Amino acid sequence: MNKGLIIEGRLSIVATPIGNLEDITLRALRTFKECDVIYAEDTRVISKLLSRYEIKKPLQRLDAATELKKAEEILARMEAGEHVVFVSDAGTPGISDPGARLVRHIRTSAKGGSASGGNGSEIKIEAIPGPSALTTALSIAGIDATEFTFLGFLPHKKGRQTAIKRMVASEIPVVLYESPHRILKLMKELSAAAPECRVTVARELTKIYEEIIAGTPQELIEQLESKKSARGEFVVIISQ
Ligand code: SAM
Repeated sequence: MNKGLIIEGRLSIVATPIGNLEDITLRALRTFKECDVIYAEDTRVISKLLSRYEIKKPLQRLDAATELKKAEEILARMEAGEHVVFVSDAGTPGISDPGARLVRHIRTSAKGGSASGGNGSEIKIEAIPGPSALTTALSIAGIDATEFTFLGFLPHKKGRQTAIKRMVASEIPVVLYESPHRILKLMKELSAAAPECRVTVARELTKIYEEIIAGTPQELIEQLESKKSARGEFVVIISQ
C-alpha cells in the first residue's frame, strides 16, 4: 500500500433490519445503490432485502471465519477506489456479529500497521446506523436504560456461572442475547441464582410475534413453556 496517501475508496458499515424489512434507512438504501460491492455475513439474507427494494449488486461473503482474509481483499478494492459495503446478518455489524476485526484491520493497515496511528494513509470508513436488537428491546422494555451493561451471548460452558452471578448482583440493568435452544436453561439458571430478580424477555422484535414478557425467572419459565414462546430470537434484560 502507498503510505501517506489518501485512499479514494470507502467502506460503509451498514445496519440492516432485525426482522421487519421496512426497518432500513434511506441512507442505507442509497448506499446499497451507489456502492460497487456488498460483503455480507450471509448473502441469502441480504439478497432478500435487496430484492425487496429492487437493488442489484455484486455480493461477496464475509463471515467470522473469513473476516481477516476478506479484510485484505476489501483493502485492495478500496485502494483501487472502490466503495465497499459490509452488512452482517441482522442489525448493527460488530454487535455480537462480525465487523470489528474488519474495521480494525482496514484502519491499522491504512495507518501503516499501527493501531495508534502514524504517518499512514487516510481511509474513509463510515457508519450507516440503524437497528440493533439491544436498543430495540430497551426502547420498549420500560426499564430505565440511562446506564446498563451489555454482555452479548453468555459463554455456553466455561465462565457461564460466573457471568450469571455477576449479572444478578449488578446494580444496573444487564442485557444479553440468548438463543431459543438455551432460553429455558437460562431462566432455570437465573431462578436458581436469584429467584426474586426481575427478568424482561423481548422476543421476535419487529416481527409478527413480537412480545415482551416480564416477571421472576419462574414466572417466565411458565409463560415460555405454556405458549410455545420458547421459539424465535430473544433479548433478555435482568433488572432489580
Ligand atoms: N448484530 C445484531 C444486533 O445489532 O442486534 C445481533 C446479532 S446476534 C448474532 C443475534 C442475536 O440478537 C439473536 O440470537 C437474538 O438474541 C438477538 N436478536 C436479533 N434479532 C432479534 C429480534 N428480532 N428479536 C429479538 N432478539 C433478536
